[in-house]
Amino acid sequence: MVAISGNKSSEGEFRVWRGKLPLEHRYTSGVAGQRFFGSLKNRGVLIASRCSKCDVSYLPPRPYCESCYEAIDSWVDVKNSGSLYSHTLAFETRKGRTLKTPIVFGLIRFEGVRGGLVHRISAVDPKKLTFGMKMEPKLKPKNQRTGSINDILFFRPVV
Ligand SMILES: [Zn+2]
Repeated sequence: MVAISGNKSSEGEFRVWRGKLPLEHRYTSGVAGQRFFGSLKNRGVLIASRCSKCDVSYLPPRPYCESCYEAIDSWVDVKNSGSLYSHTLAFETRKGRTLKTPIVFGLIRFEGVRGGLVHRISAVDPKKLTFGMKMEPKLKPKNQRTGSINDILFFRPVV
């Protein structure tokens, strides 16, 4: 929707055109993302970029440090288990179709790392999820990985 006007005080006074724009766009994973996904695909290991000057690690990895703005100069393996920081349930698909079973999504944070990963949570009754619960990724078999976030099938509680 595009609104064109000035000095209008209510929505009904705006002149609007309603329509849809068939836009499509692509993101590259970038230099840092490419390295992250390469590690995930080839080694099955989560990695973080690390600013040695600030002693801060980032996941998702950043090519530049958010604290000092210097280019990131090192990488560290992240312990694959993290903790559940937050979660929610989706009852519909992105296109509005009702799901028979809700999908659980969670934010997993990792010790010593700034940031975290949002991913699907599975292999647990959502009612039993607790904040801070230790979670680990379930990866695709190596020969099926493509170097994408979907190489992680889901996160599940560490047993
Ligand atoms: Zn820094």
